[in-house]
Amino acid sequence: MGVKVAKFGGSSVADAIQLAKVKSIVDANPDRKYVVVSAPGKRYSDDNKITDLLYLCKTHIDHNVTYEQVFQVICDRFRAIELNLGVDVELEKEFDQINENLKNGASADYIASRGEYLNALLTAAYLGYDFIDTKDLIKFDKKGKFLNEETNEALAAELAKHEKGVLPGFYGAYPDGKIKTFSRGGSDITGALVARAVNAEVYENWTDVSGFLMADPRIVEGAKPISKISYKELRELSYMGASVLHEDAIYPARAADIPINIRNTNEPEHPGTTIIAEESNHDNNIISGIAGSKDFTVIGIYKNMMSVDVGFVKRILSILEDYDIYFEHLPSGIDTISVVISNKVLAGHLDDIVEDIQRKCQPDSIDVYTDMALIATVGYGMAKRPGVSAKLFGALYEAGVNIRMIDQGSSEMNIIVGVENTQFEIAIKAIYNAFVE
Ligand code: ASP
Repeated sequence: MGVKVAKFGGSSVADAIQLAKVKSIVDANPDRKYVVVSAPGKRYSDDNKITDLLYLCKTHIDHNVTYEQVFQVICDRFRAIELNLGVDVELEKEFDQINENLKNGASADYIASRGEYLNALLTAAYLGYDFIDTKDLIKFDKKGKFLNEETNEALAAELAKHEKGVLPGFYGAYPDGKIKTFSRGGSDITGALVARAVNAEVYENWTDVSGFLMADPRIVEGAKPISKISYKELRELSYMGASVLHEDAIYPARAADIPINIRNTNEPEHPGTTIIAEESNHDNNIISGIAGSKDFTVIGIYKNMMSVDVGFVKRILSILEDYDIYFEHLPSGIDTISVVISNKVLAGHLDDIVEDIQRKCQPDSIDVYTDMALIATVGYGMAKRPGVSAKLFGALYEAGVNIRMIDQGSSEMNIIVGVENTQFEIAIKAIYNAFVE
């Protein structure tokens, strides 16, 4: 059998009880040769994540406030893990070293990375695997740009020397050896890079949910799990909100055609969701999932003869560019065009943008609507199947939902509708019931 790379997220490695589950998962299959760990996360809902506490130390130091108390809380959590696992990795020496570096002005990235570093040391000792530091293997240039090929080569060469290993997620280093982290949640990226470097048959991403569900369970009670989904479909769903996996983790796995299997450490027998490259109708469902979010603004622009006014759309888009604003959708008619932008992205610029459009494009009218929700219904099963939109719009009609906008790509893998914020939940339930139940 091929090699499996297993990455365990913060809640999966939050304490010794969780790490015991990790051990039984790893021991259950000898193909799980490389393990990537996050820093210990929350053990209960109002607990602290180690990474947050580490950043807090740095904030204290930057404000000339004593950080020792926070540092002790961090040390105590690792001491408890060491004790309860019955291993010895000479933590006190590690703490002294980190403390020393803190006093000498260590960077925020260095401090934040120590959660993964210490946790990987402990996990390696507990599993009986080699500890492999990612410091010299995950490479960034002087400016902090991730070096893809160099990293792949270094990781592949090092991992070939270890039959089994545990690696800390989240960080690598600049050419001078100073630590550089990925963005928050970046251990997922490390896992994907390791999977690519060993050409794994699967990248298992162990978290605290059993994969993706076809709809948000807070809206659709008992929403069914998605067993297989393509990268492209997931992207259509994830940009609407559902994020279990760091977006940047997808690229290395996808480039090497390695499936990503999202699994639940607390429910290891559940097969979870597998993300694959193949673009086809996987589970024989018409749709793979529904996702959406509220709070978008629609700027509706009308101008007689717009369709022959060359450069009109370009002028609108260059105004958005001036404000560094991206749009979600751009549905258009003969003499109308609507720009759909997230309210968060728009933040305070709406009046200025409308004024600029007025001035530079001289439309006949502009309508603004600020309370729109977008819902994406996604799945390859919809393609080339007559009646899908009829079913979707029929379901919305029966639920009394007024559709304010419709957008469908020619790939036919998604239909996006805009509804009023107040009808968001009703619309999702109606679509789910029409296609899944
Ligand atoms: N520990 C880091 C964070 O909390 C990275 C990770 O867990 O993926 O963001």
